[in-house]
Amino acid sequence: MNDNALGIAAGGPPGSPPGGVVFGRVMSQWWRGPGRVVRATLDDLVTTLYPTDCRACGGPLLRAGLSPLCDRCTDGVEAQSMTLCVRCGEALDMEGVRFAGQFPAEGLVCSPCRMVPPEFERAVAYAVYEDELREMIHLLKYERMRSVAKPLGGFLARAIEMLEGETGGELLVVAVPLYPSKERERGYNQAVLMADAALAELKRSRPQWKLTSVHGAIRRVKDTRSQFELTPKGRRRNLQGAFKVDDRAALAGREVLLVDDIYTTGATARACAQVLRRVGVTKVWVATASRAQPEMIASWDAGSGTAAWDAG
Ligand SMILES: [Zn+2]
Ligand SMILES: [Zn+2]
Repeated sequence: MNDNALGIAAGGPPGSPPGGVVFGRVMSQWWRGPGRVVRATLDDLVTTLYPTDCRACGGPLLRAGLSPLCDRCTDGVEAQSMTLCVRCGEALDMEGVRFAGQFPAEGLVCSPCRMVPPEFERAVAYAVYEDELREMIHLLKYERMRSVAKPLGGFLARAIEMLEGETGGELLVVAVPLYPSKERERGYNQAVLMADAALAELKRSRPQWKLTSVHGAIRRVKDTRSQFELTPKGRRRNLQGAFKVDDRAALAGREVLLVDDIYTTGATARACAQVLRRVGVTKVWVATASRAQPEMIASWDAGSGTAAWDAG
């Protein structure tokens, strides 16, 4: 993206020197002397193009690289350690569970999943949507920092690895689609970038898996960008008819892994899974880099959050 700018600065004095010994010597002195000047200009450019402070913690970025985040922030994102619903990944209130006295060997299921089982088999997420992770997702989605897709894709890969032994190992991978005008506005679908980065990592960590991306197999045909203003029921209603599958033949009889940056209420995952199952997909798995947990969603609902969650 900035090769041109750097190329111009490093390419040499404008125009080629005409012949003549004196002129040549002057030019060569100018060029040798100002090596420092040129380098300083380059440094300025690099500083402008790559901010020197970590975008998440404000600490110094020790090396000029593509990532706007320091290693401490990236490494500081930890996997979820609470007891989670085995279907949707919601953090369980263990007090309530203990009272009910139920500890089935196959794992615990939250009450929403018990009441209305989701159309997907299981949703896994790497970490809670907060702090550095939240900042990283914001940088990718709202500040066009595409380079953050790589570390986020790493978290997504860790989430996908949690499905080891449960899936058939041969999966079609679909990123949750954005509404076309929204994708044009952003310039990309962040879920696609993250999925590509995750698959590249999994090729090394799980070479035996057969993951084939088929982004675009589902289309978002309804603009649902105002999701966050709605009640849970309203969200589900808003998503009705929001997704469409064109190529049924490519999906029928297969297992699909649906990926996204964040899982919030699950309304999007459920709606996509429903459409996929309807065209003959045998099983739908869901993996996201991050997971909003209920108390967080409650605080957004109270009006404190302006995050356009579930809006893509
Ligand atoms: Zn940092
Ligand atoms: Zn659940």
